[in-house]
Amino acid sequence: MDVCFRWNKKNTYSLAALAPLVPDALKVKKPHDGVMIYSFATRQKDSIFSEVKKADTESIFIAGGPHPSGAPEETLEYFDCVVIGEGEETLPELVDAIKSGRDISTVKGIAYKDDSGKIIITDRREPVDLDKYPCFDPDIVMSPLEISRGCPFRCRYCQTPRLFGNKMRHRSIDNIVKYARYYRDLRFTSSNSMAYGSDGIHPRFDKVEKLLSALKDTGARDIFFGTFPSEVRPEFVTNDSLELITKYCTNSKVSLGAQSGSDRILREILRGHTVDDVVQSLELCFDHGITPIVDFMVGFPDETEEEQDMSLELIQWICKKGGNVHSHYLTPLPGTPYVDVKTSPVSKRYKKVMGKLALTGQATGTWE
Ligand code: SF4
Repeated sequence: MDVCFRWNKKNTYSLAALAPLVPDALKVKKPHDGVMIYSFATRQKDSIFSEVKKADTESIFIAGGPHPSGAPEETLEYFDCVVIGEGEETLPELVDAIKSGRDISTVKGIAYKDDSGKIIITDRREPVDLDKYPCFDPDIVMSPLEISRGCPFRCRYCQTPRLFGNKMRHRSIDNIVKYARYYRDLRFTSSNSMAYGSDGIHPRFDKVEKLLSALKDTGARDIFFGTFPSEVRPEFVTNDSLELITKYCTNSKVSLGAQSGSDRILREILRGHTVDDVVQSLELCFDHGITPIVDFMVGFPDETEEEQDMSLELIQWICKKGGNVHSHYLTPLPGTPYVDVKTSPVSKRYKKVMGKLALTGQATGTWE
């Protein structure tokens, strides 16, 4: 029985991590007979559900990733099994059970329908030890280096702590260095890269420095830390952390999450920091000659025009000082407390100001 990963440009990071665990699997761009493995986010769900619905292959369809994990019931309308949360242990075990005709009910961390059509969700799995699993298989596909997983915060709109848990886990420096040797330019994924080595709340910049120093010793040409696809929480932007960037890294920009210029909204979404924390972190960036790229969201439930104006005021201040902004409209994601919320309309003024900033290249994103 063939085992196949459904490959597309949007899921290369998750497949980079999973492909080495099912080493004989094929990479395919359409349904194929055998076991078909998909990984996707909410944005891709419509096209993927449609593809699976129309498939005329003899396949067992497995889904994993952010959307299926948060919405297993919906996913099981199209798929045979859902891997919930981390796939490193669950996926190989599930594939093995299917191939050998064993009962899948003993596989932890999955959802499926039994013979009567009832949805069964098996026991949750413990979070994995990242060092036991490769970042990627260089013969298959490479991705940014995942240095940490999980997040101690519980921002209401975010899937990360729901998928990966509230305890931050880190790949060891030795393990990161092993995979870093494949690259000349290094980029990383983490819920908060400056929280490397810590519990995600109390910084351990000594450990961040050990990591950056070890990476520098690999002969890497460029190290991009605290930039896309990772970001930094405002309270982790300090003189010490910015000095580490200046000392070891190529980037002169840092991506950080502000989300709103309203303290009421920040409290409501459980961000765990204030507007003052954001401003303080931005001032530090400017003092150190580092350009902040600041993430904002708009359309929170019950967000008023005045609260959107507060975000705009902060956005305009950032842009005036030379920073950049990335703004997007709130997407209520499955598996989060915001899954069913009613988003708020975006004010005319927000659209107008952001449109102007987009024309000058200072703002990017989709806020409509
Ligand atoms: S938005 Fe960031 S800080 Fe908040 S829960 Fe998600 S990963 Fe954690």
